[in-house]
Amino acid sequence: MVSNHTETSVVVIGGGVSGLTLATLLRKSGVACAVLERRDRAYVEVRQRAGVVEARAVRMFERWGLADKLLGGPVAQTIDYRVNGVGRIFNLGGDNAAQGRFCTQQMLVNNLLRELIDGMGGDVRFSVADVTIQNDGDGRPRVGYSDSQGSHAIVCDYIVGCDGDRGVSRASIPDGVLTSYSHEFGYAWLAALVEAPVTGHPIMGVSDHGFVAQLPRGPQRSRYYLQCALSDGPEDWPDTRIWDEIRLRLDDDRIENAVVHDKDFVPLRSVVHAPMQYRNLFLAGDAAHLVPPTGAKGMNLALYDVDVLAEALLSAVRDQNRTALDRYSDTVLPHIWTYQDFSVWMTDTMHDAGDPALHGEFRRRTARARLDTLFDSPAAAGLHTDYQRGVV
Ligand SMILES: Cc1cc2nc3c(=O)[nH]c(=O)nc-3n(C[C@H](O)[C@H](O)[C@H](O)COP(=O)(O)OP(=O)(O)OC[C@H]3O[C@@H](n4cnc5c(N)ncnc54)[C@H](O)[C@@H]3O)c2cc1C
Repeated sequence: MVSNHTETSVVVIGGGVSGLTLATLLRKSGVACAVLERRDRAYVEVRQRAGVVEARAVRMFERWGLADKLLGGPVAQTIDYRVNGVGRIFNLGGDNAAQGRFCTQQMLVNNLLRELIDGMGGDVRFSVADVTIQNDGDGRPRVGYSDSQGSHAIVCDYIVGCDGDRGVSRASIPDGVLTSYSHEFGYAWLAALVEAPVTGHPIMGVSDHGFVAQLPRGPQRSRYYLQCALSDGPEDWPDTRIWDEIRLRLDDDRIENAVVHDKDFVPLRSVVHAPMQYRNLFLAGDAAHLVPPTGAKGMNLALYDVDVLAEALLSAVRDQNRTALDRYSDTVLPHIWTYQDFSVWMTDTMHDAGDPALHGEFRRRTARARLDTLFDSPAAAGLHTDYQRGVV
């Protein structure tokens, strides 16, 4: 077994959208940084999820001089809020300054890998295992890992956990330091990537048979989301059932079956772990918080975290000023709670308004009234637009 010890300034654990964005911002600013990712590059390049980079994150990439290298074109400025097949188009307005950009998470990750590794010679180590974290305040932090060459250790100044909800970073923090706040919605989504584009407006659909959405994922593809039971798995949802349910929930017999590329089952949960730091370890993205995908905010929150964290790390490394770093968690948490609130609002509204078996007729009617208010009240519409665009 080979054992190598190296040094760097920042070790980022996790090469998903938050880890790669942070590493790109640091590398662009001249801060030495290594990313440890447990999967291989090919796997990271094909993992599909989010579809829109909201206006706040677009401004961030513009500020760092990266928007045109990393992001796609403008996004649809409309949402079709459908109830039992009857559509109402919600207009997000045409103000360019507050627009998000279309960019699937996969596109963004691919562009980040190209920019960071191929463009800047960044240090991303794929297919690592057994990551361990030493952050006990006794000397410089140290991250251990193994790969096909043997075991290694990196001595560093700061560690950033960007390794998602099930990573090692948060788990390395001693019991009693973090408080976890969570809410379970009691149902899941089947997420199906299909070979059929959105032909009209992106759809968020309420139905007596459960929630359904169709969102764009490129010129030929879209992602359908179908509310399902927490216990459901692939065996419960053959492709024929997926298409039958889509037709039923959208009340549209004209929809034709198409190829289903993949199916994911996502339990809907909201979680915040706070504070998002311990000594020289900082948590970002899904490692620190989860939102249900209904509000499309998970990736965007991850980008917000790493924007704040990159600036704070720069101050600490370049100017030896730790003030912003010490305040990192306090700085980002208010915005995280605001987006948690929006995501709960969207999730409750879109699901309660549908199948009355979920929360009863009373909640169904109040949820439908909430949806109507978006179309009847300019004040409600304005706030909803700001949330959807990501300028809150
Ligand atoms: C079905 C679905 C739809 C979604 N839709 C949207 C949307 O429309 N808009 C939106 O903004 N968000 C959306 N999200 C949320 C978004 O995908 C996540 O919030 C985002 O991926 C978080 O990025 P991250 O980098 O923090 O975590 P991840 O993308 O999960 O990356 C974590 C990385 O860490 C690696 N890792 C894990 N453990 C280790 C370890 N021990 N050692 C080394 N590496 C490790 C993983 O392999 C992974 O590459 C959706 C999520 C789902 C599931």
